[in-house]
Amino acid sequence: MPIDATLPYDDANIFARILRGEIPCTRVYEDDHALAFNDINPQAPHHVLVIPTGRYVSWDDFSANASDAEISGFVRAVGAVARAAGLVEPGYRLLANVGGDAHQEVPHLHVHIFGGRPLGPMLA
Ligand code: IMP
Repeated sequence: MPIDATLPYDDANIFARILRGEIPCTRVYEDDHALAFNDINPQAPHHVLVIPTGRYVSWDDFSANASDAEISGFVRAVGAVARAAGLVEPGYRLLANVGGDAHQEVPHLHVHIFGGRPLGPMLA
C-alpha cells in the first residue's frame, strides 16, 4: 500500500529493520550516510536501493530536514554505487517515489538505481 509521506517516521518500517540488521539484505555499499542493497523484486538487471542511514520518511523529509553533511554524503553514495557498478556508460536511471500518488510503499527514503538494459523513455 502506498504511504502518506507526511506521517512521522516509523521505526518499524522494513528498511529501518534492514539498517538495524534485523532483516537480511544483499548489501552492495555502506558508509556513514548510506546503505545500498539489491531490490528484492528487481525491475531491471541492475536494481539497487540506496537509503540514508538517518531516519527520513521520504525525499521531502530528507531535503527539508537532513544536515548538509547527510545530504552530500547520501548524494555522493548514490553516485558511487552507480559508478562502481559500471553503469555510467551505457547509463542508468534514478527514481525516488514520494507519497501516495507516486506509490511510495516503504516509509524510509530510498533512491532506486535502475540499469543494465535500455530503459526506454521515462514514464510519468
Ligand atoms: P517504492 O514503491 O518506491 O516504495 O519501492 C519499494 C521497493 O522496495 C520495491 O521495489 C520493493 O521491491 C522493495 N523492497 C521491499 N522490501 C524489500 C526488502 O526486504 N529488501 C529489498 N527490497 C525490498
